[in-house]
Amino acid sequence: MIFNKSILMAILVFALITSSYWIFLKNDEIKKDGDMKIYKGQCFCASIYFEAKGKPVFTQYCHCNKCRTVASDSKNPADKKGYGFTAAYLTKNFEITNGNDRLISIVSNNSRLYLCSQCKTLIYGISENPDKQGGIGINANNFQFAEGIPTSFAPVRHTWYQNRIINFDDKLPKFKDTPKEQFGTGELCE
Ligand SMILES: [Zn+2]
Ligand SMILES: [Zn+2]
Repeated sequence: MIFNKSILMAILVFALITSSYWIFLKNDEIKKDGDMKIYKGQCFCASIYFEAKGKPVFTQYCHCNKCRTVASDSKNPADKKGYGFTAAYLTKNFEITNGNDRLISIVSNNSRLYLCSQCKTLIYGISENPDKQGGIGINANNFQFAEGIPTSFAPVRHTWYQNRIINFDDKLPKFKDTPKEQFGTGELCE
C-alpha cells in the first residue's frame, strides 16, 4: 500500500513537472514568435522584395538633404513627402528575398544606399565603415503592413530637423542634426 502510494506520488509529481514544462515551452514559443514576427516589404514597382525579422530597433523621420535628394528620383509617392521614414534593424535580421540582381547602389556620406534599378526607390542603407555594419536603415515606406502601421514602428524622433521643409506639430524630440549615439551634436531645435 505504501509502495503504491509512493508510486502514485511519483507519477503525480512527474505529471506536474512535465505539464508545467510543456506550458513553459509553449509560452516560450509564443514569445519567440511574437518577438520574431516577419515584416515584409517591396519597392514601388515590385521588383525587389525583402523581409525584416522582429520589431525595428527604432524608427525615425529624417529631414536631411541626402534623404530628400535620394527620394527625388523615386517613383513612390510616399518617398516624396519631404522627409525620410527609416527603420533601424540589425543587419542579420534583414534579407532581400527577391530581386537582388535588380539592386543598384550609390555612396552618399559614407553610407552605401541600395535602390531599385527600375523605380529608384531606396531600399536600405548601410555604413561603408566595416565596424559600423551591424545595423542598417531600411526605407520604412516600403513595408507592406496588413493592418496599418504597428506601434513598434512609431517614430521616436526627427533628425536633421534644421533642414526641414515641413513643420511637425508633434511631441517627438526634434534634433538639429542627429543624437550623439548617431554621431551628431545631440542638440535639439527650439
Ligand atoms: Zn522597384
Ligand atoms: Zn536623412
